Amino acid sequence: LVSRKRQPEDTLVHVKDVTIGNGRPQLIAGPCAVESFEQVNAVAEKLALSGVKVMRGGAYKPRTSPYDFQGLGFEGLKLLKTAADRHDLRVITEIMTPGAVESALPYVDIIQVGARNMQNFDLLKEVGKTDKPVLLKRGLSATIEEFIYAAEYIMASGNSQVILCERGIRTYERATRNTLDITAVPILKQETHLPVMVDVTHSTGRRDLLLPAAKAALAIGADGVMVEVHPNPAIALSDAQQQLDFDQFDQFVEGLTVQFPRL
Ligand code: PEP
Ligand code: MN
Repeated sequence: LVSRKRQPEDTLVHVKDVTIGNGRPQLIAGPCAVESFEQVNAVAEKLALSGVKVMRGGAYKPRTSPYDFQGLGFEGLKLLKTAADRHDLRVITEIMTPGAVESALPYVDIIQVGARNMQNFDLLKEVGKTDKPVLLKRGLSATIEEFIYAAEYIMASGNSQVILCERGIRTYERATRNTLDITAVPILKQETHLPVMVDVTHSTGRRDLLLPAAKAALAIGADGVMVEVHPNPAIALSDAQQQLDFDQFDQFVEGLTVQFPRL
């Protein structure tokens, strides 16, 4: 179902009035995690002023250590939705278990399936039964073929509104948090008809590489970029190393707009 051979024309993903995959790159931005109403509201205000239409923020956080901040859960979904509504933004957030999908639906516009859950087949089937667009992240060690099959699970369950997101893969290289597989973008676009985005934050794990990675992503044909923004990254409860503060976010958007004016 995801194959370009079966459907030659690009799939457009519609998120209310926002379209992903129509040739105009979209920026998805927001904090790593929802921490408080004040925090998400400050980010939402900033994003709206910057022209961003889709806000991210994790309420359910898949953390490597069980002792790290696990997210505010359902309460976080409500805070994110309230802040986003105030500033007329669409919401994308990660859902980790099939059982949490239904209760989340009123609060989300795009469901994110995280890298660690790319092959959580029950979750893929469950989000496939909803009428919400799904942003599917590539697994930490997933081949492109496995990634495409994961998208197929969602489509096979009835949901064709799928966005693929390259977010770096695990290699021997330690200079970056993961290795951004930039050629995955044109390969995925050749093999499938789905929109492809690049998460520059989790692929690089380095603030200084966010802009160059985003430029590379758009230059190679990505339909958009995801990046993390926090009012005060130094005190962020997760990913403090690579989130942008508001001034840095301005520079990021400016730097990208110079070369990609349609952003
Ligand atoms: C995230 O986007 O919040 C996240 C946890 O990313 P990934 O699943 O790509 O690690
Ligand atoms: Mn993060």
